[in-house]
Amino acid sequence: MRVHHLNCGSMREIAPDESERRPLPTKPAVCHCLLLEAEDRLIVVDTGLGLTDVRHPEESLGLEFLGRAAPLLDENETLLRQVERLGFDPADVRDIVLTHLDLDHSGGVPDFPHARVHVHQAELDAAVPYHGRHPEDRIRYRSAHWAHEPHWVTYAETAGDPWFGFDAVRELRDLPAEILLIPLAGHTAGHCAVAAQADNGWLLHAGDAYYYHGELDAQGQRPHPLMNVLANATEVERPLRLGNLARLRELHRDHADTVSIVSAHDPWELAEHQEPAADLV
Ligand SMILES: [Zn+2]
Repeated sequence: MRVHHLNCGSMREIAPDESERRPLPTKPAVCHCLLLEAEDRLIVVDTGLGLTDVRHPEESLGLEFLGRAAPLLDENETLLRQVERLGFDPADVRDIVLTHLDLDHSGGVPDFPHARVHVHQAELDAAVPYHGRHPEDRIRYRSAHWAHEPHWVTYAETAGDPWFGFDAVRELRDLPAEILLIPLAGHTAGHCAVAAQADNGWLLHAGDAYYYHGELDAQGQRPHPLMNVLANATEVERPLRLGNLARLRELHRDHADTVSIVSAHDPWELAEHQEPAADLV
């Protein structure tokens, strides 16, 4: 399966941590999304910010996020425009798999209103009943992203298979067996990673389970000082989050040759995976 790595939303610039062993430039944080070319359809993993976010940011995203993340809000970065520029028909994006429903992952959902949206049941339960009723949750979950009432396909955590030491891993309904949903809660109630068997091995999109590649460093984790503040501020359950992060670190230590792991917002990871030709923005 061919995989395209896309940035669907540049945000505030971040400097690499001083512990980096190689020189890295300061870059805007990204919304790292995947476009998977399956036999009969396109499948996306996370959607970044969408057209409504770019055109009506205050209503769609809210002032708190705009102030904190400083998104670029360039229509050319939306998943919809990038799918078009790659020469695909947006109608062929028939399935969206979301690591979670935070606003910077679900913004592109309304741009593909016909698509099925796969998400963990606990995440949908946490996000959707709240809109309009609990202002504090409206910071992370934005009703504009599901006002069109998407075709949700949800998964409960109890059943599943093992996968490289992770439990309750599920194939996605009516999708190729090369795509797996891996419960990885802690950042949010129903946060998941998504694994896809690409042409050159497994690719694991870990969403916001970690923010900075240094956190997976086997020789001693190197959390990014600023991004780590964000990780702590946005988590819903610390022991769960840190336990899952430890498992990701073990996966990276033991299977780096088989499984390539990416997170949602690390711009240096994205740059490593993007072919020059795919860098269309
Ligand atoms: Zn995020």
